[in-house]
Amino acid sequence: MGSNNKFNPLNLCRENVKLLDPYTSARDEYVSNGNKMIFLDANENPNETGVNRYPDPLQRSLRTEIAILKNVTENQLLFGNGSDEVLDLLFRAFCEPNKDAVITFPPTYGMYGVLAAINSVQVHEIPLTTSFNIDIEGYRKKQYSKAKILFICSPNNPSGNLMDSMHVEEILQTFDGLVVVDEAYIDFTESQSWSNRLLEFPNLVVIQTLSKAYGLAGIRLGMLMASDQIISILQKIKPPYNVNELTQLKALERLAQKERIQKEVREIIVERKRLENALKFMPFVKEIFPSEANFVLVRVDQADQSYAQLLDQGIVVRNRSKQLHCENTLRFTIGTPNENNTLIETLNKL
Ligand SMILES: *Cc1c(COP(=O)(O)O)cnc(C)c1O
Repeated sequence: MGSNNKFNPLNLCRENVKLLDPYTSARDEYVSNGNKMIFLDANENPNETGVNRYPDPLQRSLRTEIAILKNVTENQLLFGNGSDEVLDLLFRAFCEPNKDAVITFPPTYGMYGVLAAINSVQVHEIPLTTSFNIDIEGYRKKQYSKAKILFICSPNNPSGNLMDSMHVEEILQTFDGLVVVDEAYIDFTESQSWSNRLLEFPNLVVIQTLSKAYGLAGIRLGMLMASDQIISILQKIKPPYNVNELTQLKALERLAQKERIQKEVREIIVERKRLENALKFMPFVKEIFPSEANFVLVRVDQADQSYAQLLDQGIVVRNRSKQLHCENTLRFTIGTPNENNTLIETLNKL
């Protein structure tokens, strides 16, 4: 691991991707001059259904809005069918199957490992400490020459805590490959996004999503922010119409509801604190892990039993007991005030 002053993502990406001549979709080629044009280029059905045309492959309207919102330039942005797709694109662009590797800090978001397995990429795990912080000594000790990508989830899922920014910075400065900071829950925190520091760290990739704080899990819109060089590599391999028209429209509509979104986020945080307080007084609760997200991880005396009892009462939570350092833990997503009342009442009766 060394200095990344000379970092160039083209040296990191797969040879076939470097050489790829991307598919150009019909809609890439025209520059609209208003509504006067006749589109006979893409074999669409000309009759209006609202969605009879292919969506904008560059998602220009959405791109403009999100660039302003996130304070990045339009060429530092890539959209995908959920963050899961942009994560997959990273593997496919940078990791040679059966050769390259990635680094994760378990326990963390399961998709990094799943995508690695799908893409036949090895995973080197550096476990978080038992309080779910990065084991920076563990990181320093290892030399992973074949590791192309390192994933940091902050706030981390399932633990809910933010990673120490000194540790993240040290990794950004010393890791030779891409450092992906997954900020799916950033909007629930007071913390600044790492996307503000893209110019400082050419190997930084930040991932966010509209699935959590923005309340749009159903439309599948994930975003990746990185240097324009990294973005152009990913743009080359992304399916041209990966973000559908309904998703683009719904996202724009929701982004206009700024105050409502902020109000919902504030309410979710207030509710999380209320749930945490209630949990403190429950005798079977052993530990409540500090969360900056819209969920809380809790250690109980018998997780499997509590899980089954809750299910019996019609409440589905996540049993995380099989994950590293998570023996006997349940993860509660914060619901509406009514749902949380029911959860608290039910837990009190267990
Ligand atoms: C929920 C979540 C995502 C979001 O994935 P989408 O595909 O955008 O819905 C990404 N990363 C983490 C850590 C998550 O918990």
